[in-house]
Amino acid sequence: GKVLVSGCNGFVAVWVVKQLLEDGYTVRGTVRKDSAIPYLKDLFKSYGDRFEVVIVPDITKDGAFDDAVKGVDAIEHLASPFHMHADDPQELIGPAVAGTLSVLRSALAHGNATVRRVVITSSCAAVLTEDPDLSKARTYAEGDWNELAIDDCAQNRRGADQASKYHASKALAERAAWEFAASHRGEAMFDVVALNPPYVYGPWMHDVKNAEQLNTSMFAFWDAVIKGNKSMEELATEGQSWVDVRDLAHAHALALQRPEAGGERIIVSSGPWNWQDFVNTAHALEPSLPAGNTAYDPKTAVYHTSFDNSKSRRVLGIEYRTMEECTRDSLAQFKAKGWMW
Ligand code: NDP
Repeated sequence: GKVLVSGCNGFVAVWVVKQLLEDGYTVRGTVRKDSAIPYLKDLFKSYGDRFEVVIVPDITKDGAFDDAVKGVDAIEHLASPFHMHADDPQELIGPAVAGTLSVLRSALAHGNATVRRVVITSSCAAVLTEDPDLSKARTYAEGDWNELAIDDCAQNRRGADQASKYHASKALAERAAWEFAASHRGEAMFDVVALNPPYVYGPWMHDVKNAEQLNTSMFAFWDAVIKGNKSMEELATEGQSWVDVRDLAHAHALALQRPEAGGERIIVSSGPWNWQDFVNTAHALEPSLPAGNTAYDPKTAVYHTSFDNSKSRRVLGIEYRTMEECTRDSLAQFKAKGWMW
């Protein structure tokens, strides 16, 4: 089969492309700029003409994907802004929602003869509700929706919390996808799957020239674990949940391969962490890295944001990598780049 992957130059998407190529699919990736193409062509050159890249300059435009969807059997939609420096929330919400809708509209108008499934890369950001009280532990599941972030942006606009702006963009984009699916039932020959990962870590393969160019989640990892830029308090109490980028890529392929995934919202999470857990794991592997908060005890630590991953195990049959494997392979990458010390 042939799969369209939007935003195929991103941290997660590059691994999705690789997984699909390994599984025997032909992949058509989209990027915004010409300049992203040579690196990708080189990265996937061993797959020959099973990998092609097309340019979609503005994903928010009506009909943006009209040509890109032609002749593909499935779509993995990953292109969406992920940063924490938006002024107006619309900087994130606009492209997240309009990009998702333009993929779906193009699939219906120009891909309905062949497209059978559209996988939307949503986020645990669309699931959780931020509780500022870090002493409280909570486990979220697929029935939970981040209404709080949407309300924060609607009420406070530019003054909304930075995290709320990104979280609302993911919640509203995913909601738009489900509304589209519901209102075109019977007419669309494809179904929709939403994958909801928490923070994604692991080795990267996309084009990054220095640590500052890393995507948001890996930059945070670098800053906390390699550079040691967190306070002792933050190390012990700040965290969320995580998944290895390779497991998330695998989930994207499985979401196409498992018929029963159709119409489902699926959390793809390995487990919870506080920064000190990654610091401990990294320090054990590389003693020259910061030891961080040595008074931290994982046995009594509070994990304030956990996710129930039983649906991903049941529906996708996914097995998750350990924190040690994820950390070891990330450190190897930092080392290879010479960004360790
Ligand atoms: P990256 O920043 O590495 O990649 C983002 C991709 O989206 C790039 O291809 C980028 O293109 C494209 N993009 C960003 N803004 C726009 C825009 N306004 N218009 C068109 N394309 C745009 O991020 P990740 O790989 O981490 O994220 C990929 C997906 O996974 C996103 O949907 C994100 O929300 C989701 N996700 C990521 C998590 C993480 O921890 N990394 C956690 C949960 C979900 P360009 O290079 O041209 O900017």
